[in-house]
Amino acid sequence: QAKAAGRNTLRFFDPQMQAVVTARAVLENGLREALEQNQFLLHYQAQMVGGRQITGVEALVRWRDPRRGMVSPVEFIPLAEETGLILSLGQWVLETACTQLARWATRAEMEHLTVAVNVSANQFQQGDFVEQVLAVLERTGANPNRLKLELTESMLISNVEGVIAKMSALKGRGVCFSLDDFGTGYSSLSYLKRLPLDQLKIDQGFVRDILIDSNDAAIAKMVIALAESLGLSVIAEGVETEAQRDFLAGLGCHAYQGYLFCKPLPLEEFEAFLQRA
Ligand code: C2E
Ligand code: MG
Ligand code: MG
Ligand code: MG
Repeated sequence: QAKAAGRNTLRFFDPQMQAVVTARAVLENGLREALEQNQFLLHYQAQMVGGRQITGVEALVRWRDPRRGMVSPVEFIPLAEETGLILSLGQWVLETACTQLARWATRAEMEHLTVAVNVSANQFQQGDFVEQVLAVLERTGANPNRLKLELTESMLISNVEGVIAKMSALKGRGVCFSLDDFGTGYSSLSYLKRLPLDQLKIDQGFVRDILIDSNDAAIAKMVIALAESLGLSVIAEGVETEAQRDFLAGLGCHAYQGYLFCKPLPLEEFEAFLQRA
């Protein structure tokens, strides 16, 4: 019996726990296979200024699992981070996004676009992160001035000096930085001003109920004011309705990303969207 085998083995006989462990192992193997067999792809979502002009695009990774179909990154990024697979995946995302950036640079209607790439904590914390990014830019021929890296607050709170050094080195080459999901982390305002950031991104969690939740509205207002006083641009994510867009505009936010304008789209559909816009 489980009890006789000792306390530590007890949970192994818990079928629910067993199911979780198995699902995790299946997912981890699936991710390894996905990397080997090129099952990842990028979707692209427009970033708008003023509601009409498309100034950039965010690259969002997807996994086309032969068994399950299209899998969202919220399902596999956390495990990719825990297992270290994010390092290869992140490299692939950066390389693919920069390759696309270089291609767009040769097309008149797309040459002005910036491409935003999400960077995960383990990736950014690699000792040679700066060299890796510069090597990708070199290999792909992408214009560093058109690359935007999206960081999150949690990855910036320890070793601030090291963070600043990395960001400054890349900024020196023209790369810019946006702080994703802003307001959901713990960064202190006192060193926010020390980071060489270019943009704050208002988390979609504050945009969703901005019209009915006065706390969300107050936070959005605060982020916009903070961006302005720090000399940063500000973009709102998750904008789904005109009412949300108008409310944000009233607070002084004029850059948006969200389903109202464009869902994340596969490359061909995104290019068709650009052509129509
Ligand atoms: P994120 O970087 O904050 O990306 C925004 C998420 O909001 C995306 O989800 C996007 O599809 C979704 N979204 C955009 N507009 C709307 C809207 O109007 N309404 C709603 N409800 N949602 C909207 P997605 O693509 O599922 O990505 C989720 C998260 O996964 C991203 O959040 C990012 O943290 C992470 N992620 C995505 N791609 C990568 C990647 O290449 N590398 C890393 N490290 N993380 C990634
Ligand atoms: Mg992002
Ligand atoms: Mg975000
Ligand atoms: Mg988010």
